[in-house]
Amino acid sequence: MSHFDVIVAGGSISGLMAAREAAKACATVAVLEEDAEIGTPEHCGGLVSMEGMKNLGIVPDASAVENSRIRRARILSPSNGFELSAEKQKVVVLDRRALDKQVALQAQRASADIRVKCSVRSFNKDGTRYIVKTSEGDFTCDYFVDARGVASIINKNRDGVLSSAQYEVFAPWIKRDAIEVAFDSERYPGFFAWVIPTGDGRGKVGVAGKGINAASALKSYMDAKGPYSVVRKVYAPIWVMGPIASFVSGRTVVVGDAAGQTKPTTAGGIYTCGTGGLLAGRSIAKAIAAGKKDDSILDEYQKGWSAMFGEEFSKMLVARRLLERLDNKALDELFSAIPKDKLEDASSTGDFDFHTAALAKMLDVKSAGRMAKALLGNEIRRLVDG
Ligand SMILES: Cc1cc2nc3c(=O)[nH]c(=O)nc-3n(C[C@H](O)[C@H](O)[C@H](O)COP(=O)(O)OP(=O)(O)OC[C@H]3O[C@@H](n4cnc5c(N)ncnc54)[C@H](O)[C@@H]3O)c2cc1C
Repeated sequence: MSHFDVIVAGGSISGLMAAREAAKACATVAVLEEDAEIGTPEHCGGLVSMEGMKNLGIVPDASAVENSRIRRARILSPSNGFELSAEKQKVVVLDRRALDKQVALQAQRASADIRVKCSVRSFNKDGTRYIVKTSEGDFTCDYFVDARGVASIINKNRDGVLSSAQYEVFAPWIKRDAIEVAFDSERYPGFFAWVIPTGDGRGKVGVAGKGINAASALKSYMDAKGPYSVVRKVYAPIWVMGPIASFVSGRTVVVGDAAGQTKPTTAGGIYTCGTGGLLAGRSIAKAIAAGKKDDSILDEYQKGWSAMFGEEFSKMLVARRLLERLDNKALDELFSAIPKDKLEDASSTGDFDFHTAALAKMLDVKSAGRMAKALLGNEIRRLVDG
């Protein structure tokens, strides 16, 4: 039976980041990915900030950048809407297939052994080691990293899961420089519909919501916009309930979507899940360098991630609860209550990865604040008073 210091189950952004960082410390690391190709099937809009990429130590290859010209975001309620400038946020649309392969190459160069079409079926403690049973035979390891995505978390809790559909679409109504986010509490309860352009006339168009038939909701959204052709369809669950209580148990370390590290507002996870993998890999490397004697070193991972994102994620959860309570009339009223100067302020100071501060500024308007308070009581203070 082959033995590795670290086995990572799941070869997507969080697992590959964990593998890259652990392998840099000369640990023997295997990444076991059940699909036949790293980066597939792609189930991601690929919208990410360049700042986030930089923090992950990734300069996206030209082949991974589908669109670097996003300049504005149109935010719509059923009968209202406004536009934010997105110049300052420097967001790009990435091709996840290419991005994940790029990170896989980084991990491989750091000496990780990446295997595809290798599905992890179980992992069990056997003394100080784990026995990992896979479709390609059994392995042993000292540290097991669970990076299997939402599939891993929904086995424990189905409540925080929304259904989503995202299609690759060719349509004249998609403009290269504009993202669209459309709220409608009846069609997409607890979430929204979106357009992420990859070029003029092409993009990724999706919807998500609690208990919806995502395929028919997406069809209605696109039918109302004009002609289109769908060239690829993806259906995937998304997790919006924030991080699980404990990322580490013994020498089992959970990262990425499997640990609930996706933003509860937008379900964006490339940066926050990637950071989970990065910090987990570093703490495992440190524990190995310390002679595998002190497992408390692994706790540095959860402390580090929570220090970066804990506060922001709890505010995002408050914003989520507010959204879940707004009906379409309230959505329209809220949108019309936001004055132009607040929108300009949000455009010029808003941070794509830490967006609750911009949201709080927009709600810090008398009528909007009154409505939010009526719906959430004093809980809204956690968002607005910061
Ligand atoms: C429709 C949609 C749109 C999104 N758009 C964006 C966006 O625009 N921007 C953004 O930042 N985020 C977006 N996200 C979120 C983002 O895709 C995820 O947060 C991110 O990919 C999580 O990375 P991960 O490595 O934790 O998990 P995943 O990317 O889910 O990867 C898990 C990996 O584990 C593998 N696996 C599962 N089970 C096993 C097993 N038993 N054995 C071996 N391997 C296994 C899977 O094949 C997969 O490769 C979107 C998500 C969805 C669903």
